[in-house]
Amino acid sequence: KKTITSNDLKNLVNEAHAQVKDLKGGKNANYIPFLDKIDSNLFGISVCLPSGEVIEAGDTNYVFGIESVSKVYTAILVLRQYGAQAVLDKIGADATGLPFNSIMAILLENDHPSTPLVNAGAISADSMVKPVGNSEAKWKAITDNMRELSGSDLKLLDELYKSESETNFNNRSIAWLLKNFNRIYDDPDMSLDLYTRQCSMGVTAKQLSIAACTIANNGLNPVTKQQVFDPSLSPKITSLIATVGFYEHTGDWLYTSGVPAKSGVGGGVLGVVPGLFGIAAFAPPLDEAGNSVKAQAAIKYIAQKLNVNVFGGD
Ligand code: GLN
Repeated sequence: KKTITSNDLKNLVNEAHAQVKDLKGGKNANYIPFLDKIDSNLFGISVCLPSGEVIEAGDTNYVFGIESVSKVYTAILVLRQYGAQAVLDKIGADATGLPFNSIMAILLENDHPSTPLVNAGAISADSMVKPVGNSEAKWKAITDNMRELSGSDLKLLDELYKSESETNFNNRSIAWLLKNFNRIYDDPDMSLDLYTRQCSMGVTAKQLSIAACTIANNGLNPVTKQQVFDPSLSPKITSLIATVGFYEHTGDWLYTSGVPAKSGVGGGVLGVVPGLFGIAAFAPPLDEAGNSVKAQAAIKYIAQKLNVNVFGGD
């Protein structure tokens, strides 16, 4: 059985950083004013092993907006609270093939919003978070779960939260359309606000890699040694990530990288190689689907050099 050690990674992570750092292309998200202002040259790569070792290069302690990578965290929380079957029934686990903010994601299927990893299903997931009806206690559950997965606290970026709350008209429509189709399980405005807040959490590439490794390591956080979620949920989470983690580019990404990964418009990407490691990379410039150009290149470089691919081929 294959294992990856810190020796395999020490030079490789630096090499990937050096190879990719001058890569051109993409631009910062500009529909959220705060994100447009972030330094486009920031770039970090972090890999976390089940041993708890973290191998890093570049800006891995820079705190950036977690954005849609937070959808993975809240999907895990509702899986913990409700179990795999209920999440499948109430939200679903299908690909959408659509942009992250698509209203169509709600209408694609007759019975549920498809997946907790696009905006519609993520707002629905926030509505499911227990205790239903209590915004403050729900927020505590969301942030506790984020801390347990990442091994340390994530902090709200107030300015990002404000910037995003002032411009999230599309998401407001999604929340109320979900209500219209009975696919939201708490107050729509409250669920939308929880979603907007969770997207505005600040995270580092290092923290993301630890959460990625917790998923790769069957729910056992390799740094804190806490069993955060039941091992049976790990393949469910990785399958959600694999199916829709890069939105309309998910198939192309999997085909070329072999690594299930989830992106956010803050420039972060979290990748899971089950049993072997968690990887995260961060750089603000995005391709047209909202996925970080450099993070994609870095993760591909490392996976190819290590010869890891969840679809085999070794
Ligand atoms: N908060 C952002 C939004 O809802 C997240 C999008 C993303 O990261 N893809 O538009």
